Amino acid sequence: MSEQTSTPYRVLARKYRPDSFETLIGQEALVRTLSNALALGRLAHAFVLTGVRGIGKTSTARILAKGLNCEGSDGTGGPTLSPCGVCQHCRDIASSRHIDVLEMDAASNTGVDDVREIIDGANYRPVSARFKIYIIDEVHMLSRNAFNALLKTLEEPPDNVKFIFATTEIRKVPVTILSRCQRFDLRRVPQEMMITHLAGIAEKESIEAEQGALAQIARASEGSVRDALSLLDQAAAMGADKIEETAIIDMLGQAETSRILAILDACFAGNTAEAVDLFNAADAGGAEAETMLADMLDILHQASLIAAGATPADLPEDQLNQLRKMADMGIAKLGRAWQLMLNGHRELKDAPSPKAAAQMVLIRLAHLAPMPTPADIIKNLQEDTSPPLRPAGPAAVRQPTPASPPAAPANIAAPASVQETPLSAPSGNAPEAPVSDISGNSLPAELAPIAADNEISSPVPSFTSLRDIASYFEEQGAQILAARIKRHLRPVSISAQKLEVMITGENAEDLPQQLARALSEASGSAWLVSVSETGGGKTIAEEDADKDVKEKQAAEDLPLVARVLEIFDGAEITAIKAMDATPVREGEAAIEDTEEEGLPPETSSQMR
Ligand SMILES: [Zn+2]
Repeated sequence: MSEQTSTPYRVLARKYRPDSFETLIGQEALVRTLSNALALGRLAHAFVLTGVRGIGKTSTARILAKGLNCEGSDGTGGPTLSPCGVCQHCRDIASSRHIDVLEMDAASNTGVDDVREIIDGANYRPVSARFKIYIIDEVHMLSRNAFNALLKTLEEPPDNVKFIFATTEIRKVPVTILSRCQRFDLRRVPQEMMITHLAGIAEKESIEAEQGALAQIARASEGSVRDALSLLDQAAAMGADKIEETAIIDMLGQAETSRILAILDACFAGNTAEAVDLFNAADAGGAEAETMLADMLDILHQASLIAAGATPADLPEDQLNQLRKMADMGIAKLGRAWQLMLNGHRELKDAPSPKAAAQMVLIRLAHLAPMPTPADIIKNLQEDTSPPLRPAGPAAVRQPTPASPPAAPANIAAPASVQETPLSAPSGNAPEAPVSDISGNSLPAELAPIAADNEISSPVPSFTSLRDIASYFEEQGAQILAARIKRHLRPVSISAQKLEVMITGENAEDLPQQLARALSEASGSAWLVSVSETGGGKTIAEEDADKDVKEKQAAEDLPLVARVLEIFDGAEITAIKAMDATPVREGEAAIEDTEEEGLPPETSSQMR
């Protein structure tokens, strides 16, 4: 046959059209239900057969019509699921010539007048057969008026009339109609069954075909027997005397869904080169960039449905399996990919070259896909007990110091001195010791804790900076005073019981006096707060604002943060929070590191 492809050839799909339920493959559930109904004498007046194209709806309708009207080879048989195929009825129905079995294609006869004929005819008894049977293909195409007219007949159907509807779009059929029909969903033929079916036909036709070639055809047919047989036809016409797998792959060209899936898989594996190569191959085969991205969006949607536990669309099983694998990535990643793909799809219209734009989308996806989601990042950080991200140096600054109670903030410039300053310890157990310790440390004289000169019998706060003072009052619950200090005072100098400041802002004239009183009360000795006209530094509030900017800049430079910012297009750092310092659980400490202690040392010291 291969050398004479131009001669008329009986198409395989027609030649092997199922003429009995035995030869109808992949629809066991339907056959079982029908035989039960038949055995119980509960056949409905109307049936609706639904399913994707080419899986045997029309064939089923004809087999059913034969079964209903078959009289058996001896003319005595009743309705059956195994029509004899030899009685007059069987033969006439098989050749679409039966006077009582009328087939109508709703796609071309949508109007009420077309249906009127049927309705009028239904009122007459069948001429020769048991039942008058109306087969209406693509019934969803009927107009609303036509449906209404049909409904009247369905509501009170004559005893000897049966309707068999077939449709690819059951949702477009009015519920009023559906509720009067026995519904049968035809399934896509499973891959393995399809391969076996194709192998059987190839053998009968003396077509030599590689198993792999048949598998490719079966996959491309997406469960439609008619499509599979057409492909087998094409392949047989193309190949000389053997159908090879490679030839099939060439012939199928851009075997849409599986190719799209392969591109996505490559992206998700972070394999940019492979993804782009696959895309280019599809492009060379004539696939539109825009369509491919739309298909990818569809696949991501279906995978997300699966990940969410919802039912995906009716898809061939091998695609479903691939989608399930994709769904394992989780909703967050799929959603992110969807977003990226959607943006890319929009950008495509503005791009001078849709192909280039689509490639860029794939590159971005492949780059992004292997990256963890924020949830993953946090989880990893929490699991990672010795994170390599932890910078060695600054962590020491925050080392919890046994001798630093809340009242004595560890804000003294050199961390070492904190540990060696039990002066500020709340317990009065070792009051003498601190004095000598302090004299031994290397603090500049004006920063030395002022309490050193005092007779110490009770805990005394050590004020070495304006910030210390503000922190102290904050901790004491004097929030307003603390806030005013931060906002209105510019430090000039601080020494033992003497603070010199500049005043900034309005209504702060009374602040120095108020502060002197509060400090004296707190320390138990008189403090002098003098106001200077020059030489003031930044207010604490200003310093904090600067620090915030610096922290953010420093944070942006951290590899992890940089990655997060890259992943989330348009993201920005709005706040850097220290985790509560008390917990010592590894996980939380690790997060804390990245947020604050991970800053470069110079930033950390400026924070103080
Ligand atoms: Zn028969």
